[in-house]
Amino acid sequence: MHALVPLKSLDAAKSRLAEILTPAERSALVEAMVRDVLAVLVEHAGIESVTLVSSDLAAHTLAAECGASFIDEDKLQGTGLNAVVSESVELLAAGGADSILIVHGDVPALQATDVTAALQIHAESGGLVIGTDIDSRGSNLLLFTVKDIPEFHYGEDSCERHARWAQDLGRQVSVLRHSGLALDIDRPNDLQQLIGDANPGQHTREYLLQSGLASRLLPPSADQWQQIAHALEEGELLSDAQALSLAAVADTAALVELAGTVRDRGHGNVITYSRKVFIPLSHLCRDVCHYCTFAQTPRKIEQAFMPVEDVLELCRQGAAMGCQEALFTLGERPELRYKAAREALAELGFDSTLEYVRYVAERVLKETGLLPHINAGCMTAVEIAELRQVSASMGIMLESASERLCQKGMPHYGSPDKDPALRLQTLELAGQAEVPFTSGILIGIGETRRERIESLLALRAVHRRHGHLQEVIVQNFRAKPGTLMAAAPEPDLEDLLWTIAAARLIFGGQMNIQAPPNLSPGVLPQLVAAGINDWGGVSPLTPDHVNPEAPWPHLDSLARETAAAGKFLDQRLTIYPAYATEPGRWLDRAL
Ligand code: SF4
Repeated sequence: MHALVPLKSLDAAKSRLAEILTPAERSALVEAMVRDVLAVLVEHAGIESVTLVSSDLAAHTLAAECGASFIDEDKLQGTGLNAVVSESVELLAAGGADSILIVHGDVPALQATDVTAALQIHAESGGLVIGTDIDSRGSNLLLFTVKDIPEFHYGEDSCERHARWAQDLGRQVSVLRHSGLALDIDRPNDLQQLIGDANPGQHTREYLLQSGLASRLLPPSADQWQQIAHALEEGELLSDAQALSLAAVADTAALVELAGTVRDRGHGNVITYSRKVFIPLSHLCRDVCHYCTFAQTPRKIEQAFMPVEDVLELCRQGAAMGCQEALFTLGERPELRYKAAREALAELGFDSTLEYVRYVAERVLKETGLLPHINAGCMTAVEIAELRQVSASMGIMLESASERLCQKGMPHYGSPDKDPALRLQTLELAGQAEVPFTSGILIGIGETRRERIESLLALRAVHRRHGHLQEVIVQNFRAKPGTLMAAAPEPDLEDLLWTIAAARLIFGGQMNIQAPPNLSPGVLPQLVAAGINDWGGVSPLTPDHVNPEAPWPHLDSLARETAAAGKFLDQRLTIYPAYATEPGRWLDRAL
């Protein structure tokens, strides 16, 4: 009897665990699981030899350390799991193996008794033995003689497909349901089940304990969940530990239900939006975020900065359509990177982009009556003080507090202004300057759920010091053609709902939680149910220049979809009522 263990690669494996584990954690977990599977097989008296097949050279070392042979997948002709297994089996058969047992490396609760049971069934009945998972859908183990090598059908419902293939040929099929084979670790739920109920092998167990994942990944117990619900009912904020425990909650429906109740307590039946004009003052940026199409190089644009007269004309048109906000969006300090930006600023008579922003915002305020909201990126205390004189509110998306996203290969690599410490510093300075401020997180760019919660907690901490955070945006990443992340998977609806609900629970009922309606067409009532109370800025005049492929919903249809969720749509200013009604503290005298 010869055993074969297929392994994609240590790094690329288990991408579905990305929402709860970092790449390094995934890789370490996969290695621990494979070590456990190899240990059981190598030590089993009924198995003569064990072979690991993988395209990962690190797996070669792993196989040698565990006493297994190695097949380099890259030297095989086929690609994909079925072709790789098929060729590997042929190689083993050619090398003299009479029977072959295939077990995947992600079955860390595998015990010698599971293997013994499979061998016994095969000895008694022959044919094909399938060790299936807890749902009777997968093929975590296959056992057959080389005279009866099956056609491999790994993938969805492989148990049924392998069984049907054998039955169609009149061969004996035995399906083995054993606890050690029941759990293959593919999704966050599987890992939680492994930690909570199953009995993983020594390497996996030690890794889960030593890395802290065992405690981190367990969802709150029933008692802890009760305490969370009770605290929110009493209008208290969750502790940091309670907030972090939400990262392991896989039951999105439960989170959403609680978040909807908490939101209703703070905002009743009203969902707000700000009718705005979107002003892309400059598409030049010194950063290179891997998902961005807003930033352009000088060669691709006609003018480095939008002329003030064009801005004023746009704002006048917007004012005639009922807009009350002028949203200034621009790249980060383009003059530090582009000569074209420096020359354009010099021609306009300004030393820096932020000086020009101040000038244009002041003209908009005085000549059109629209209230400027300025998103100018990272700023110093002096710059914030200058812009405060000409704006009703400002903002900067934190996006993520994870420094990991700035490392090589990650979306913020090469973008100095996406250093979380710098962005949090801007948030801190804005709080000290008493600026009504907007921030938020961008989800689906490689962060884990725990990192999302850490980002929300970082925002909550700065807000607790200064009280200036008037809204928190939960924005879902959208893959755009022509960017480095064009092929990256977008977060699905459930992930977005989970995050909105988590944000609501972490910030409590009073905070304004917002999700952009144009990035989730067709599912707006679900976003409301998850706990938002605001749609952000919506323009009847200008496109979303950051997501130009995603048009704003028409305001009538936004009202209809909001009503479908049982709420009223109401227009607000860029500065929220709680801040506008305390102007002595939150606004410059000129406003
Ligand atoms: S996302 Fe913002 S900071 Fe990043 S490249 Fe685009 S404009 Fe610049």
